[in-house]
Amino acid sequence: MRPEILLLGSGWVPQVDKVLERDYVCHRLAAVAPADRDAFIERVAPGVRGVFTTGVTGIDAALADRLPKLEIVAVHGVGVDAVAFDALDPRGILVTNTPDVLTEDVADLAVSLLLASSRRIPQLDRHVRAGDWEAKKPLQPARSLRGKVAGIVGLGRIGRAVATRLESFGMAIRYFQRSTADCLYPRSASLPDLARESDYLIVCAPGGAATRAMIDADVLDALGPEGTLVNIARGSLVDEAALIAALQEGRLGAAALDVFADEPRVPAALRELDNVVLTPHVGSFTVETRTAMGMLAAANLEAHFAGKPLPTRVLGASA
Ligand code: NAP
Repeated sequence: MRPEILLLGSGWVPQVDKVLERDYVCHRLAAVAPADRDAFIERVAPGVRGVFTTGVTGIDAALADRLPKLEIVAVHGVGVDAVAFDALDPRGILVTNTPDVLTEDVADLAVSLLLASSRRIPQLDRHVRAGDWEAKKPLQPARSLRGKVAGIVGLGRIGRAVATRLESFGMAIRYFQRSTADCLYPRSASLPDLARESDYLIVCAPGGAATRAMIDADVLDALGPEGTLVNIARGSLVDEAALIAALQEGRLGAAALDVFADEPRVPAALRELDNVVLTPHVGSFTVETRTAMGMLAAANLEAHFAGKPLPTRVLGASA
């Protein structure tokens, strides 16, 4: 008999759906109207042994508690900050994610955002579309990257891939994280120090309680009026109100953001600022990477139900 799984969220490619439909009895929460979801969960919960979810959706304690037979949560994404490990670990419920397969594309997006901001690509696009070029309206020159300092917050898989790319633009790399990384880049003594020593601050650390609002008013002031914040990590790492105030008051030069505090809602104040580049959380959103992520998440489920070692298990707080 095929195991029953509950699918939360969306964003994986159809090929992955085909694999899941073939191997499991699939209960899709996203296909149910919000008003009917509680009754839907009540009905399917007794049989659910696996959850397939996204990094943003994760699984909260209230839902996990309603699934008495839950054995495994397969996250389609590398970030597991939305997974309630406190509720899963005591029950021995396994968690997997999809590291590595998304690293290069997310790093590409970080660099794209940095370039879009420094070379003012969205502003120039608007300029041409509005007929301002023909009308000979004045243009503000962009900033060159050569010789500038890129400060990486979290020199992990994605942070390193961003650093490698930015080195090829002639930028100097610095970083800050809790541990000292095995690399030749200098580690700043603190996050405010990194911001003070950088022209571009690129946030690549995980979300969760330990990093909540770590990019606060002090860090933004240290980055300064000539500085640019790039965030491809999680919106929760940035104090968004402080970011908006710093941008509005000219205490921060610019921001390029793929992630936000309350997705998909982006504050009107951010949308109205000209010195901000915005993308809708699409770091891994390519056909190739979403296929690889989906297949890896499915491979974790398959390994579990076949009694084999999990390809990419995440160790929870108590492991
Ligand atoms: P990773 O390899 O685990 O790297 C994370 C790095 O952050 C580590 O080097 C870690 O070093 C550092 N870090 C952790 N806690 C920190 C703290 N409190 N202060 C400073 N640094 C800290 O993870 P990854 O694969 O590079 O992914 C990073 C994050 O990117 C994910 O967690 C996810 O949220 C985000 N992401 C976003 C997208 C998108 O679509 N925009 C896509 C994929 C991933 P230490 O432990 O030494 O501090």
